Amino acid sequence: MARGCANRCGFCLASYLNLPLRSVPENDLFSAIDFGLEHTNKIAFLGAQVSAHPKFFDVCEYINKKISQGKNIEMHFSSLRIDAITPEVVKTLAAAGQKNITLAIEAGSERLRKTINKNITEEQIINAVKIVAENGLKGVKIYGMLGIPSETKDDIDSIIKLAKNLKKEFKNISFGFSTFVPKPHTPFQWCGREQTVNLEKKISYLQKEMHKSGIQVNLPSAKWDYWQAVLSRGDSSLTDFLIEVYKDGGNLGAFKKLAKKMNINSDYFALNNFDTKDKLPWDFIKISPGKDFLISEYNRLL
Ligand code: SF4
Repeated sequence: MARGCANRCGFCLASYLNLPLRSVPENDLFSAIDFGLEHTNKIAFLGAQVSAHPKFFDVCEYINKKISQGKNIEMHFSSLRIDAITPEVVKTLAAAGQKNITLAIEAGSERLRKTINKNITEEQIINAVKIVAENGLKGVKIYGMLGIPSETKDDIDSIIKLAKNLKKEFKNISFGFSTFVPKPHTPFQWCGREQTVNLEKKISYLQKEMHKSGIQVNLPSAKWDYWQAVLSRGDSSLTDFLIEVYKDGGNLGAFKKLAKKMNINSDYFALNNFDTKDKLPWDFIKISPGKDFLISEYNRLL
């Protein structure tokens, strides 16, 4: 439905790498839906943030009309923004066979959501879950991220409190988390990850508290995400190392063992807070808007 996302969450490569947001014109979308329905009854809408499409509600209405005329359609969205959840959208999804919905809130506290540029309130989140519960979907999954720059214990406690409140609104709610991995070409590219041991403490605290409240939660592997950050911000000095890791099975043990053997300073790539004046390995790749824009975004958000 669109390339990019105008929301510009500070960690989000899909947004910053594809600015400005370009939406497929409404009529082209309708023609594509009609063409697709000649061959299948499954329609999936793709895009970094499909609900930000200016005609998102019209598209839902278009599908809904076809369903009410007796057409069998299965419609799928990957995840929707909280502020796109209305009774009409949820009813359309339910009528089109979607059972569950994923809502990305990223952070548990309003302060941290503001820091990453995700300006949604707790009231909006609770309201969205209520709408999902009342309009025919079977379950909701809330997606969040741990270890976002500037996160404190209070932010983790806010997630737990929010989860308990949401559970009161809808029994069939589950949570999924990842940990923050800095990505090149985003404002948070300069931010190092938290130490793995700290993240693991947060993960087990969250697991314990969610478990006590009977809330289903999928938790990430901080160790794997550490190596993802090394790959994300690494430079050409890692080439031989990565080849050897691949040959050795590509598992966590291989990463750790070979980093030691080959004297790779993986902490530098994963954990270091870079200075905005530092030369970064990917600076030679020119994107638009460029580094000055990312620096101003970094200063605005953090
Ligand atoms: S709303 Fe989603 S797709 Fe858009 S910038 Fe934020 S994380 Fe990225």
